[in-house]
Amino acid sequence: MKYRRFSSVDQVVEVLNPSYPILCVHPDRLARSAETFLKGFPGRVLYAVKCNPHPLVLNSLWRAGIRHFDTASLNEVALVQELLPEAECYFNHPVKGTAAIEAADHIYGIEAWVVDSVDELDKIEENVGKHPDVIQVRLQTASGYAAFDLSLKFGATKAETVELLRDVERRGYVPAISFHVGSQCRTPEAYSRAIHEAGEVMREAGVKLRFLNVGGGFPAHYRGTQIAPLDIFFKTIRDAAAKLDLPPDCELMCEPGRALVVEGCTQIVQVHLRKGGSLYVNDGIYGNLSELNIGKLTPPVRLIRRGGKPMSRDFAPFRIFGPTCDSLDVLPEPFVLPDDVTDGDWIEIGQVGAYSNALASHFNGFYTDTVVEIGD
Ligand SMILES: *Cc1c(COP(=O)(O)O)cnc(C)c1O
Repeated sequence: MKYRRFSSVDQVVEVLNPSYPILCVHPDRLARSAETFLKGFPGRVLYAVKCNPHPLVLNSLWRAGIRHFDTASLNEVALVQELLPEAECYFNHPVKGTAAIEAADHIYGIEAWVVDSVDELDKIEENVGKHPDVIQVRLQTASGYAAFDLSLKFGATKAETVELLRDVERRGYVPAISFHVGSQCRTPEAYSRAIHEAGEVMREAGVKLRFLNVGGGFPAHYRGTQIAPLDIFFKTIRDAAAKLDLPPDCELMCEPGRALVVEGCTQIVQVHLRKGGSLYVNDGIYGNLSELNIGKLTPPVRLIRRGGKPMSRDFAPFRIFGPTCDSLDVLPEPFVLPDDVTDGDWIEIGQVGAYSNALASHFNGFYTDTVVEIGD
C-alpha cells in the first residue's frame, strides 16, 4: 500500500484541506530514535510491535537498522514477517494458543519464546519440538517505578524462575531470562534492581544464560516530566550487567516500544466547533488519543491555519472534546493555543507515535483512517 508523502505537516493541511483527522508518520524522527538505541544500548534491540504496528512505522524502523521484533500474537508475527521477510521475530508473550505456537513455528520459523509457567513450557514442547529454540523465562519485577505496571499479570517468582530455567535446559532448549519493569519507567534503578535479581536467579539455577532481556519500559520525554536521558538508562543497565558474571556469549537484549516510536508520529485534528473555552475536535480518547487520557499526558500542540493567515499572539487554555457522543471523550489536560482559535482551524498534536493508532476504536463511526508520510 502506498501512502502520500508531504514535505511538512503544514503542506498536508494546505493540500488536503482536511475535515478528517490525519496521522502523520515522520520516518526521520523514527530513524533518530532507532539510532539512539542501536548505538547506545549494549546489546540486541527489538522493537515491541504492539506499540505501533503501522507498516510505515515498521518499514521506517527497518530502514533505520532495526532487525529484531518483539511480537505477542500470531497476527503480529504474520504482519512483520510478510512485510519484512528477513526480520527476526520473537514470540514474547507468556500465554499463547497452541495453534498460534504451531503456526509461528511451522509457517514463520520462530525460534525464541517466552514462558512464565511449566504448563506453557509443556505447550511449547508439544507443538514445537526440540530445535533447540531459545526459551526466555519471564521474571516478575518490583512495581512502583513505572506509569504502567506490567508485572501484575505476567512473570514467575524468583523461585519459580529458578525451576523453570533448569527445566528449560533439561528439555534441551537454550535458557534466557526476560523481565519488564513497566511502561514509562521513570528510574534507571528499576533496571539495575531487576538485573541484580536476574543474576541471583541465574546463579541459583546454575544454567548458562544465552540472553538477558531487560524488556521495554524506557521513558518518553513528555512535557512536565523530569526524566534522565536514555544514555543514563543504558549505562545503568551496562554497569549492572557487568557485575553479574554472565557467560561470555550471553547477550543483553531490550524490547522498547514507547521510547522508539513516541516522537515518530503527530496527529492533525480539525476544530469543528468552539464554545467559549471548549473546542470540539475530530479525534479523541476512543481514537488515536487514548494514551493522553490514561497517562494524563500533555503533548506539545500547535495551531495551523491555511494560507498563512495570521493568528493571535496571546495564548489561552482550551478544554478539548473528542468527536463521539460520550461525555468521557474529553482530554484530561487543556491545550494552550492562540486565543482566537476557531472552527476550521487545525491542531497538530505531537508525541503520539506510541499506543495511539494501535489502540484506536471505531466507536460512533469516528476514526483516523488517513495516514501520510512526512519527509523529502
Ligand atoms: C509492552 C511491552 C513492551 C514495550 O513496552 P514499552 O513500555 O512500550 O517500551 C516490551 N516487552 C513486552 C513483553 C511488553 O509487553
